[in-house]
Amino acid sequence: MAPTDPIAALPPLKEVIKAYRLDARRKLGQNFLLDLNLTGRIAREARIQPQHTVIEIGPGPGGLTRAILMAGAERVIAIEKDSRAIEALQPLVKASNGRLSIIEGDALTIPVHELGPADAPRQIIANLPYNIATPLLFGWLDHAAAFQSMTLMFQREVAERITAQPGGGNYGRLSIMCQWLAETKLCFDIPPSAFVPPPKVTSSVIRLLPRLTPAFPAERELLQEIAKTAFNQRRKMLRTSLRSLGGLTLLDKAGIDGQRRPESLTLDEFCILARALKEQRR
Ligand code: SAM
Repeated sequence: MAPTDPIAALPPLKEVIKAYRLDARRKLGQNFLLDLNLTGRIAREARIQPQHTVIEIGPGPGGLTRAILMAGAERVIAIEKDSRAIEALQPLVKASNGRLSIIEGDALTIPVHELGPADAPRQIIANLPYNIATPLLFGWLDHAAAFQSMTLMFQREVAERITAQPGGGNYGRLSIMCQWLAETKLCFDIPPSAFVPPPKVTSSVIRLLPRLTPAFPAERELLQEIAKTAFNQRRKMLRTSLRSLGGLTLLDKAGIDGQRRPESLTLDEFCILARALKEQRR
């Protein structure tokens, strides 16, 4: 008979939550995913390479962590702020046979891009605490080249904005800035009923493949400024919404029709505008 996998032999997550009194705290964005089919699906979507360093943010009771380990990850570093969860995770650390280590701390202040051996690509996998999900993502994208992939769960509305293409109502500043720095893909949805406690909204898993260099040349602050200004008045024509940045003079310099609306512009065109703004300010 094959020996039992020590991770599969751990008590069910529901029992772990009860034993360690891990009642969910809203201020820590705690919605635990206990469905093994779904945690397994997220781990598969991440396409874990055994020699990579997997970084998980907020393991909580460890459902997704178990799936990551069972998918064959050899080195997993999990960052968790809740000391109750740190305690609850100890049996999993033991069962992982040296493959899992836990850092107790705030993922917003830990330099995640430096974790693990310098020569091992890093993969982030996380069911993110929604209240800090976007600042975490932007922090990591500041060091995009340090990560091979990010497989992340967001509120569906945010996931749709990150991955939106031109022409739709979800396309905006978040789409521009994320897609400038990474290839993005909306993978699948997870209903509120899959979580304990159920959140108010549907969640979605997205996958980001950070680019070694941004998709098109531009200065980050200027691209941000253009996107923010244009989408602040998303129903107006660009010649109106970009008035404070030079309006038609800027648009002519960029070769973009001032009658267009921001959601019709491709990422490339936003970068052209950012470069024109730079020239204009010289
Ligand atoms: N991964 C678990 C799962 O899928 O069931 C829990 C996900 S829950 C949505 C978010 C987790 O992030 C919680 O365990 C919470 O304690 C943790 N967390 C919240 N804020 C954090 C922070 N600033 N740094 C690290 N972990 C944090």
